[in-house]
Amino acid sequence: MAKLYIYNTLTRKKEEFKPLGSEVGIYTCGPTVYDYAHIGNFRTYVFEDVLIRTLRYLGYKVKHVMNITDVGHLTTDDEFSGEDKMLVAARRERKSPWEIAKFYTEAFKRDMRSLNISEPTILAPATEHIQDMIEFIKRIERNGYAYMISLGLFLDTSKIPNYGILARLDLSKLKPGARLPVHPEKRNPWDFALWLKAPPEHIMQWDSPWGRGYPGWHIECSAISTKYLGEVFDIHCGGVDHIPVHHTNEIAQSQAAYGKIPANYWMHGEFLVIGDRRMGKSEGNIYTVEDLKKMGFTPLALRYFYFTAHYRTKLNFTLEALRGAQNALEKIYQHLRELPEPTGMPERYLNKFKQALCDDLNMPRVLAIVWEVIKDDSLSGGEKRALLEEFDKVLGLGFVSQKKVEVPDWVRELLTKREQLRRERRYAEADAIRERLRKEGWEVQDTPDGPRVRYVKVT
Ligand code: AMP
Ligand code: ZN
Repeated sequence: MAKLYIYNTLTRKKEEFKPLGSEVGIYTCGPTVYDYAHIGNFRTYVFEDVLIRTLRYLGYKVKHVMNITDVGHLTTDDEFSGEDKMLVAARRERKSPWEIAKFYTEAFKRDMRSLNISEPTILAPATEHIQDMIEFIKRIERNGYAYMISLGLFLDTSKIPNYGILARLDLSKLKPGARLPVHPEKRNPWDFALWLKAPPEHIMQWDSPWGRGYPGWHIECSAISTKYLGEVFDIHCGGVDHIPVHHTNEIAQSQAAYGKIPANYWMHGEFLVIGDRRMGKSEGNIYTVEDLKKMGFTPLALRYFYFTAHYRTKLNFTLEALRGAQNALEKIYQHLRELPEPTGMPERYLNKFKQALCDDLNMPRVLAIVWEVIKDDSLSGGEKRALLEEFDKVLGLGFVSQKKVEVPDWVRELLTKREQLRRERRYAEADAIRERLRKEGWEVQDTPDGPRVRYVKVT
């Protein structure tokens, strides 16, 4: 098996990936289903999909667990000035939080499918794992890491060895209260809620040893990952914003409960940005997959666009750049429609492809290899198709469905008729035929050797 190198945020190094067992366990933080996910979020999910597809391509068996946050994610990172995002959405849309969760979970799954993101092995809504969370918190409490205040049960971060190790937080230099107000009952400014007591207006609440309430945001990922992947698993992923708070606190929870950092490799996707600002709801600069579809973009063009930058660098979103990606993808499709059935694959290209993937998922290089293959005149059509279809196992750009298109008889008949009309100088009628063919996806080009027709669009 080829050696895969991935960048581990925990060690700040590119490391050779060594799995714990025969099945690779991956946990990825899923969406908060209070609204449509935006294309910034999907950049992270597509990066994770590439990782999973790469592992499978290299021959690993993968178990992928993703949570759905449908309770407990507050509008601010402190525990008393914010409100549960689900409740805000419920009020906005005059629905119950359960209806909100159901609606946006379905929308999320639809967008995932349209971006060709492989389905997680387990997709776990937080609200279906409340008991697992309670058990996890009990363990933390039994080990002496938790304390009760008027807001609920909190984790004492001063008891965690190297709290903030993932983000390399230097607590001595951080100013308490600089970013967020600190509740006076907290023992340490970085302590966070494991369980929150519910005010009466909090519709989602459950009984627990710490009173009726709801879980803090971070505990769902600890409880769900441990339940399905064990106390320590292989890879934990998310966006870079998760490094200083969410993943830092997941690590603290696992250390408190089991004395262990829960994953060996921590991988983080950089932001999709617009200019110098990250794409985000609070920034007011988001696009959804649905928005782009309405503008005439295909979701797979967005997927292609994501691959134009390495996942650890920022990617600037513009509609022009997306249009460029869509044109590039369409050109690849056109080539594929002229290529015959696949034959053997030249090793040198296969090796290049694997090398690019194994070098921390270098997708811009993979795209460059795709174009190299297309332009390489020493390759036969069958070899080209074989390679492109092989690459598509990881790219997931729909290459396989772009089969060679034979020109049907009705198109040929119309072309002959058009030629006849042109000879008779009846140009308006000839143009009408050309236009009709164009609408059906057939583009006519007049060349010195006569008209050529090719299929340019799947309608
Ligand atoms: P959330 O629903 O806010 O928890 O975010 C879901 C995922 O999207 C997380 O892994 C975030 O880190 C990631 N994310 C949020 N904004 C962006 C962005 N602008 N670019 C890339 N990933 C993002
Ligand atoms: Zn998480």
